[in-house]
Amino acid sequence: MSLDAKPLPIPAAEIAVLAERYPTPFHLYDEAGIRENARRLNAAFGWNPTFQNFFAVKACPNPFIMKILMEEGFGADCSSLPELLLAEATGIKGDAVMFTSNDTPADEFVKARQLGAVINLDDISHIDFLREVAGLPDRVCLRYNPGPLKGGNAIIGKPEEAKYGFTRQQLFEGFRMLRDCGVKRFGLHTMVASNELDPQYFIDTAELLFGLAGELSRELGIVFDLINLGGGIGIPYRPGQQAVDLERVGRGVREAYERLLIGAGHPPVKVCLECGRMVTGPYGCLVTRVRHLKRTYKNYAGLDACMANLMRPALYGAYHHITVIGKETLPHDQIYDVTGSLCENNDKFAVDRHLPALERGDVLVIHDAGAHGHAMGFQYNGKLRSAEYLRRRDKSVTMIRRAETVQDYLATLDLARLKTF
Ligand SMILES: *Cc1c(COP(=O)(O)O)cnc(C)c1O
Repeated sequence: MSLDAKPLPIPAAEIAVLAERYPTPFHLYDEAGIRENARRLNAAFGWNPTFQNFFAVKACPNPFIMKILMEEGFGADCSSLPELLLAEATGIKGDAVMFTSNDTPADEFVKARQLGAVINLDDISHIDFLREVAGLPDRVCLRYNPGPLKGGNAIIGKPEEAKYGFTRQQLFEGFRMLRDCGVKRFGLHTMVASNELDPQYFIDTAELLFGLAGELSRELGIVFDLINLGGGIGIPYRPGQQAVDLERVGRGVREAYERLLIGAGHPPVKVCLECGRMVTGPYGCLVTRVRHLKRTYKNYAGLDACMANLMRPALYGAYHHITVIGKETLPHDQIYDVTGSLCENNDKFAVDRHLPALERGDVLVIHDAGAHGHAMGFQYNGKLRSAEYLRRRDKSVTMIRRAETVQDYLATLDLARLKTF
């Protein structure tokens, strides 16, 4: 094992300067990379003049990032009241907001209605619930769970064991109910994969949805104006993995669209995605320093970051590549468990990772932390979430979220009451 095998999203020399300027750990995002990538996705679906990716807010719920994506024509895919409020604060509203929730509380439907969001229902019982709490909008989208018709993958599991969506039979019933209640515009959605790298998977999903939309349309005498193929496009976390060929996905989806919808006499439809991971994931990283080195039964490198800053390795055993700034070309002939300070033994960014010999103070970059990274942060064990910085197109760097402080941690406690308690 020699040399670092994965390029950084931002030049190492710049990261070294930033690590001197700002306290580590912090998340760092690259605006130029995010914009170029968004444009590539839009271009791959340029054949559909109304195409839109609703950025899955949960992947990176930062309104500064969301604003950049809005400027690139993206909408927002929200699934909670705070996410709806973030979209509103960013200026994303109306049908640029897709509200895909499950087990939904009434106030979230009310807010989604108020914003004019496209409401995507997760269950047939939610048709009556939505009508009661917020009234039915003139367009409603339903989420399909294809069950055994579609193989799942490791993160999201098998569709028939997933809690989401309507069965096929419920879709026919649900759209009939909506039609009979006077709903005029219809959307169809599914989300069956997560971090999937096979482009054919998304083309197969499109075929499934377009074919089903055609059937529903013929049987119920309704037409669809929106079909959302969901998110789940993966990213190459490991060196040597291939990014999804977006152009190939776009071409394959187009072929299915023309054959199964337009060819079957259905009017044009707005084709949508709701990707999060592939939009910001590769263009964000976690910058951290080695705090302690420890030798017992194994070699440990303890960082100033922990799983509160990036939970994916602890949660899914996910691989995140690690680059040691300034040591990229040294032999990677040492083996470390790279840990955080949380009192859980799974608080490890890497297990048995080949790295160059480390010293205290070394700056490490944990790659591909731009999605489902900072967003998954938590305060267990009194660990606090780090700051987020954005490298602008002119290479200047600006803070887009400050680090949490002990005051934030204590903010929900009324300590004064302890005296009389
Ligand atoms: C999480 C989620 C997404 C985004 O998934 P990515 O893997 O980030 O693309 C999209 N839609 C729904 C409904 C989700 O729950």
